[in-house]
Amino acid sequence: MTMSIPRIRNKCIAAAFALCLGGFLNTAFAAEPEKEPPLTFHIFAHDDIPDSEAQRVHTRLLSWWLADMTDTVLRGWNIQARIHRHVPGVTDIRYGDDRAYDRWKGSATRFAEREKLRINGWNKFMLLTGASPYPGTSGIAQHEGDFALASVNANAAVVAHEFGHTLSAVHDDSKVRGSDAWWCETNMVPSASQIYRDCRAYSPENQERIRTYVTGLALPSP
Ligand SMILES: [Zn+2]
Repeated sequence: MTMSIPRIRNKCIAAAFALCLGGFLNTAFAAEPEKEPPLTFHIFAHDDIPDSEAQRVHTRLLSWWLADMTDTVLRGWNIQARIHRHVPGVTDIRYGDDRAYDRWKGSATRFAEREKLRINGWNKFMLLTGASPYPGTSGIAQHEGDFALASVNANAAVVAHEFGHTLSAVHDDSKVRGSDAWWCETNMVPSASQIYRDCRAYSPENQERIRTYVTGLALPSP
């Protein structure tokens, strides 16, 4: 793994391989029927996150992002979010060391095989952790990959940011922009500032990248 230059975004590591930083609810957001399979976000809560935290985590990290994805970024697409808890061998893995990404990828892949989920871009797998998932960062993902980890104690954009990487969004197209009330930074800024609030949105350029990526996903063979 060619990890280089860790970029701390209060959570993010970037690498040649675009590693970076990065919810709860069994929710299906149905849009019009498509020939494409649903784009499904599988979100696993590590066993070190108390069940009592589920609602807070969902509200802070997930609900606004899912709404933005379905209402704006990928409007009209069939998007699903599935929350998984207490899955032996998956939500109890060790993390926090420099093998954490590979370990998660292996565990999630075995889960996918058991559940007959394809690793083909249409399923994305994130492990939410109670502490830093990887040395020096609050989240990690691979550019256009299918796996990510994120700490629930990172800022509110961490899930949007890490899943954004898996959907082809990039730091370079993030923005700090003005708003009526205050300046804000979009989901893919590499380092969260202490000054600006979160826009809770991707920049128009990253929205377009995500649409282009999803549109380009191959249809699975029957
Ligand atoms: Zn990043």
